[in-house]
Order: sequence, then C-alpha cells, then structure tokens
Amino acid sequence: CSFAHFSFDKLLMEAIRRSEYEQPTPIQAMAIPSALSGRDVLGIAKTGSGKTAAYLWPAIVHIMDQPDLKAGEGPVAVVVVPTRELAIQVKIGDCFVHKFLIFRCSKKPKDSVKFIILMLFVHMEEAVSGNNLMNYKMREPKWLSGRIIDLVKMGATNFLRTTFLVFDEADRMFDMGFEAQVKSISDHVRPDRQCLMFSATFKQKVERLARDALVDPVRIVQ
Ligand code: AMP
Repeated sequence: CSFAHFSFDKLLMEAIRRSEYEQPTPIQAMAIPSALSGRDVLGIAKTGSGKTAAYLWPAIVHIMDQPDLKAGEGPVAVVVVPTRELAIQVKIGDCFVHKFLIFRCSKKPKDSVKFIILMLFVHMEEAVSGNNLMNYKMREPKWLSGRIIDLVKMGATNFLRTTFLVFDEADRMFDMGFEAQVKSISDHVRPDRQCLMFSATFKQKVERLARDALVDPVRIVQ
C-alpha cells in the first residue's frame, strides 16, 4: 500500500512527503480507507504503530470538507486521550496537523476552517482551541480543569459542529476510571458523527463502549 492509495489532497500529500514516511504503516493502510469512506472504526493498535496519523489524516480531510465554518461553533474534530503525555504527543509529536492546517489557512486567510483537538486527561481538558487557525500559533493552549461536560455547560466549548470524534487509548481511559466521562462525551456529541476508537487491548469495557459509541464499526486488529 502506498500513500497514493488514499487519494489525499495534494497539499496533504506534500506534507506527508516532507515527513519522509516511506509508506503507510499496517494500521494506517487498514484504517484510513475506512475512515475516509465515513465508516466508524475500532482499531486495536499499540503506541508506535502509527495510529495517531491513522486518525489525524482522516480528521484533516474531514475538517477540510466542512463548508461554512463559523467562529464560536466549537470543534469539528475532537480527539479524546487519557493522559497528559499522550495529549502532548498528539499535539506536538504530530503538530504536523496543526502546521498543515495553519499552512492551508494562511493560503486563504479568510477561510474560517476551524479545528480543535480537545484532549482529556485526569480531571483536566485542554482545549487547543483555535477559534480560528490563524490564532493557533499565537495562542497558548488553554488549560481548563473540570469535567468535560462542565466545560460544555459553562459554555467553554460545545460540540454542535463536532462530526469527527476519536477516542485514543480507550483501554487506558477505563484503567484510569474514566468510564463515566467517556460515555458522557460520547452521549453529548451529535449522533450523526463519525467515531474512531483505538485501544491497545481489547477488553470487555472497550467492547461495551464500542457498542455504545460506534455504529457498525470496521474492526481492525493490527
Ligand atoms: P503512534 O503509534 O501514532 O504513536 O506513532 C509512532 C511513530 O511512528 C511516530 O513517531 C510517528 O511519527 C511515526 N509514524 C507514523 N506514521 C508513519 C509512517 N507511515 N512511516 C513511518 N513512521 C511513521
């Protein structure tokens, strides 16, 4: 499988080329076509497998496909992760996404393409919130504490436009006792969203969340 197989937009292909990855990893080769087709995905894959890009690249495509995004509407893509380390890894290790979107945005300054990767860990959520991508570089990530649903209630963010939802390291979320939070997030995001879930192991609780949050998912075991 080669990257050409995904029919990514030219700019995204160029960004991948610059990252010097030679070919998709197995989890990317298996998950990306399903994600691009709009299907829900349940991927069993460990850290190091390339799973982050397996959801971030489709997230980019999804965000770019959104017409008429307006400020204040909340994130289009939400990625929920259990730990601060993973949040930082997704944010910085794969700041590729941010760079890519900023690049796209800077080409079209009026374009209000908007994205947020919202990260959940212990009792904090970090809204790397660009209301607008142009601000992203300027802005320190906003640290918010409290349960994610409280943030929604407080009006700090909302999920009205969220149509791409990712749960990464789902098994660790459960190990850390976040079952109720995870379920609550899933219940607060509109039912017509696309949802991808990744977990290193396949536990009963992961299966239960998958049954709740995913609709007829493509199951991928690496
Ligand atoms: P992850 O499993 O998402 O934590 O990714 C592990 C590492 O693999 C990260 O350092 C990525 O930069 C790297 N990576 C992601 N996709 C590829 C690829 N297609 N080829 C080589 N390395 C990759």
